[in-house]
Amino acid sequence: MITSSQRGETIVLEKIDSTVSKKLQELKTNLVFHSETCDKHEIRAHGNVVSNPVQMMVIDGQVVCPRCELENESLKVANALKQEHEERLKNIFTSRSVVTDETLLKASFATYTRNLVEDSEEKLNKSLAEKYAQDYLDGKIFNLIFQGKQGTGKSHLSYSILREVNEKSKGTSCVFVEWAVVIQSIRDSYKYRDQQDDESYYIDLLSKVDLLVIDDLGSETGATDTEKTATDFVHRVLKLVGTARQSKSTIVTTNLSGEQLVKMYDSKTISRLLKNPEYIMFTNAPDKRIAKDKGVTS
Ligand SMILES: [Zn+2]
Repeated sequence: MITSSQRGETIVLEKIDSTVSKKLQELKTNLVFHSETCDKHEIRAHGNVVSNPVQMMVIDGQVVCPRCELENESLKVANALKQEHEERLKNIFTSRSVVTDETLLKASFATYTRNLVEDSEEKLNKSLAEKYAQDYLDGKIFNLIFQGKQGTGKSHLSYSILREVNEKSKGTSCVFVEWAVVIQSIRDSYKYRDQQDDESYYIDLLSKVDLLVIDDLGSETGATDTEKTATDFVHRVLKLVGTARQSKSTIVTTNLSGEQLVKMYDSKTISRLLKNPEYIMFTNAPDKRIAKDKGVTS
């Protein structure tokens, strides 16, 4: 005996059946093959077609190759993914940089306007920084040291380089960190165990980013004239980061001379972090240049 509910189900199934077959029919009638074959997908040798030619089809009134269509679609998806990846890398600059000086967030070459008179050190250094930014954009890998007194615009110019590279490059990740703030965060993380940005977080971040600015290296002791040496964990972080960045570009700004840096951290660590550096010097105060071919060794 057939119950009424069973009868109902049968009617629904029949309805689905007819909808599906209608769709199939529609598809079949839309599949119009064209007499031509695709040039791109036809391989010829000695004037003869050697591979199975791909028959062109008429879709929405246009004669197209189904394989070309498929390839175009895949390309679109791949490009979208690539763009998404580049976008993600670009965002690292704003999301992962450690900047507490808010004026710095607006820093760019355009806003670096101090003392730009003919032959001034500032003007020369700005154009040097612009040149180095272009070098980074061209894919060159090298370290760069901004050296000189406080308040000369080292942070501004190094931030401008990063902004420029981040805006114009495709796929170069950039991070700017105020060194003293990083060190303080790591120090705090020993007290507050659940803090996310601990030593391993920073070692990972500073090691992996393509272009890194360490702003105000040496400032964490709060004194530039003393014989103080960096504490153990600072040493450790700098050593690991320096080792990890051998094939990456690092920019350091510092008020310290090469001699003072070495005294503070040890020459091996410093010369590894800053091998063969280029310089932008604010020399209004005399400063000893670091031997260029060996990195910071004396
Ligand atoms: Zn084709």
